[in-house]
Amino acid sequence: MSEDLPFRALAEAFQGMEEVTSRNALTEMLIDLFKRSPPEILDEIVYLMQGKLYPDFVGVELGVGEKLLLRSISLATGLPQDRVEDLYKRLGDVGRAAEEAVASRKQVVLFREQLTVRRVYSTLERVAKMSGEGAQDAKVKLLASLFNDAEPLEARYLARIVMGRLRLGVADYTVLDALAVAFGGSKEAREIVERAYNVSSDLGLVARTAASQGLAGLQSIGITVGRPLRPMLAERLSSPQEILEKIGGTVAAEYKFDGERMQVHRKGDSVMVFSRRLENITSHYPDVVEIARSGLRSNEIIVEGEGVAFDADTGEFLPFQELMHRRRKYGIEKAMEEYPVSLYLFDLIYADGVDYTTKPYTERRRKLEELVSPSDRINLAPMIMTKDPEEIERFMMEAIERGCEGLVVKDPNSVYRAGAREWSWIKLKREYRSEMTDTVDLVIVGAFHGRGKRAGVYGAYLLAAYDPDSDTFKTVCKVGTGFTDEDLRNFHEMLQQYVISHRHPRVDSRMEADVWFVPQVVIEVLAAEITLSPIHTAAWGAVRPNAGLALRFPRYTGRLRSDKGPEDATTVKELVEMYRSQVKKIEEPASSEGT
Ligand code: AMP
Repeated sequence: MSEDLPFRALAEAFQGMEEVTSRNALTEMLIDLFKRSPPEILDEIVYLMQGKLYPDFVGVELGVGEKLLLRSISLATGLPQDRVEDLYKRLGDVGRAAEEAVASRKQVVLFREQLTVRRVYSTLERVAKMSGEGAQDAKVKLLASLFNDAEPLEARYLARIVMGRLRLGVADYTVLDALAVAFGGSKEAREIVERAYNVSSDLGLVARTAASQGLAGLQSIGITVGRPLRPMLAERLSSPQEILEKIGGTVAAEYKFDGERMQVHRKGDSVMVFSRRLENITSHYPDVVEIARSGLRSNEIIVEGEGVAFDADTGEFLPFQELMHRRRKYGIEKAMEEYPVSLYLFDLIYADGVDYTTKPYTERRRKLEELVSPSDRINLAPMIMTKDPEEIERFMMEAIERGCEGLVVKDPNSVYRAGAREWSWIKLKREYRSEMTDTVDLVIVGAFHGRGKRAGVYGAYLLAAYDPDSDTFKTVCKVGTGFTDEDLRNFHEMLQQYVISHRHPRVDSRMEADVWFVPQVVIEVLAAEITLSPIHTAAWGAVRPNAGLALRFPRYTGRLRSDKGPEDATTVKELVEMYRSQVKKIEEPASSEGT
């Protein structure tokens, strides 16, 4: 216990930080605290300062609720629990309530053991690890043992730490700045400190290493399977031409999938999945764990990709919101069945002892191709190498047609820079899109056989708008969402009378359906937006050469328009008007934090 710090010193430092009004002064206080602290416990200090016990990716929480905390304060101070609760209600802050309760403590404490950072930290660690029967009471006792020995000021910060309400506003970057000055002494040190943080995502580790081993120690922090890297981010431009000029020469353009970014770590059979914000989301994606085990040909590997939900019946991608069904504690099994996820990989970070982040994109991509056994659940993001703006444009339309958001265009010579937002990755999103608030009435011209739950009925339908000029039906979307099981059975039965062996002559389609119908049945559909499409034939060439209009994320409203004949359906001209009247340039949020 020699290398320790009285908890009181930390509490006083926190108090100082709370009162300070400028960032510079805050940094100075951190520097001072870091220099005064034994290097061995600097990680614990940094975690506590951020109101945690471990970096976020570990995914362990204290699991102490307000009630439990108030009970432990009551036990430690001898104040009845309702008195402690009253204090809390009156002061509105658990910290102040704990402070007052301890200050007014009735019992005379004969033996008090001074609180130290180590003792507080290890006690809280024990609290976090307790579970099962009797855990609540045991947690109360452990916490009470700390409050029993706490002075009022210590109690204030202890209570706030336990509730995760420390709110000192100490950002990661402020800590990095302070570490650079405290243990590096120059501006260059800042870069070294930051790199160590970007590859480890562990501020505590960086702090302890800086304090105990200096810059050389920081430089030796490397990539470890199980510890996520801070993700590389993309800049944004609005045209292929601008991107080509920015990168210069040939570029690698990849589909930009609209799902959840996943950093997948695998060591043997053990797989971990981290979100873009580096939370451990493994338990939400048991299917991704399976996919990684069977689809990655390496025993020790870190890859990055986008997990995309798709409709098991139609095979179509679903909007990323559907992934929210995975962010639950219960019902994952059901969500997995209804919204399975495919993984589209776009980077290789590490494999079998080799750090790939320092290798150029082309080499990472080549190696990734080697290490992935593609299936319908795991594959690489489709990519082309080109210097032709029109080819990029076409590829972008193809991506959008498949339900993607656009492209991410990459510099083939660039390395992977963890945590950096640079011009070597540039997003190109649909520049224009038109949000749809009105429903449209469309004609069923074809269908696709259902699979799984939908075996025996149609899983999705091909829909068309009417073009009075040519008296034909032009396709606008494939729809499989919004139908109840009963709808699917009824539609299947009702449509049998219209089945024909080939595409109807009045139907203009570039897409092949499994079954074709005489255009007759009209249904009401709502979609998220209207986009340009290289496949659907509605309004072909009217908005842009070699492109038609399509509905994105269409959904059957439940309304069969038996009151409408096929020629009463929404016309292509109406679609063009809807597209034009609602089209607007998509504004990016001012914040640089994307999803
Ligand atoms: P944004 O969230 O709009 O800033 O765009 C960047 C995000 O796009 C990344 O964080 C990934 O989640 C996602 N993404 C999808 N496909 C790709 C790809 N091929 N390469 C890089 N990022 C991609």
